[in-house]
Amino acid sequence: MSHEDQNSGEARIDADIEADIRVRLEQARDRITAAAARAGRESDDVTLVAISKTQPAARIDAALAAGQRVFGENRVQEAETHWALRRPDVGDLELHLVGPLQTNKVRDAVALFDVIQTLDRQKLAEHLAREFDRTGTSRRCFIQVNTGEEPQKAGILPADADVFIAACRGLDLPVEGLMCIPPAEEPAPPHFALLGEIAARNGLANLSMGMSADYEAATELGATHVRVGTGVFGPRVPRT
Ligand SMILES: *Cc1c(COP(=O)(O)O)cnc(C)c1O
Repeated sequence: MSHEDQNSGEARIDADIEADIRVRLEQARDRITAAAARAGRESDDVTLVAISKTQPAARIDAALAAGQRVFGENRVQEAETHWALRRPDVGDLELHLVGPLQTNKVRDAVALFDVIQTLDRQKLAEHLAREFDRTGTSRRCFIQVNTGEEPQKAGILPADADVFIAACRGLDLPVEGLMCIPPAEEPAPPHFALLGEIAARNGLANLSMGMSADYEAATELGATHVRVGTGVFGPRVPRT
């Protein structure tokens, strides 16, 4: 992979890469369908969010060529590199921000993303509300919950979630669900179950949970959005 390939926004689809991504996407969709069926759910109720962070251009273009339309990124600036030039050519693209959002990046994030999955504090809620007002638009929001109560991790603490959800609704933010990233060293299902409980008691329909290692378990426990990176694209290219 040349340096140029990684950074160019133009379509440059290698046949092998396209075949590889196509198979990976089909497998992921099949696994979601099977997991949903095990839980008596419809696979249509589960959105596969393909996490394209750090992936080279050819792999992103291959996923688009294979029909994938919902993507997630965890950094605003990298997302602009990946998507600003592609967006005009892909009318039904849906971009999710799944990484931490600094208040000074709110304007850029609202301009680029369709869904903000990482709403996690009052100050950010206020900045988003102000930006929606200013631009006369809004963006679908998920509230990130730090289910493992890890000090280094973003997200509202479970004990503070109900109050924060109410505060976001008070600001008229379109909160449609919750998102979590369970601690890497713990079994994820109890965290998925906890997220589901918080959502249910607050009348929130959507749950963004499950990554490559555990999206089937998440689907069985009610995920409406699974965030799959390496499972769709293969290993990430380290950032330089
Ligand atoms: C990178 C990332 C993912 C995807 O991780 P994989 O293990 O590659 O599937 C999902 N969610 C978030 C928030 C991420 O940052």
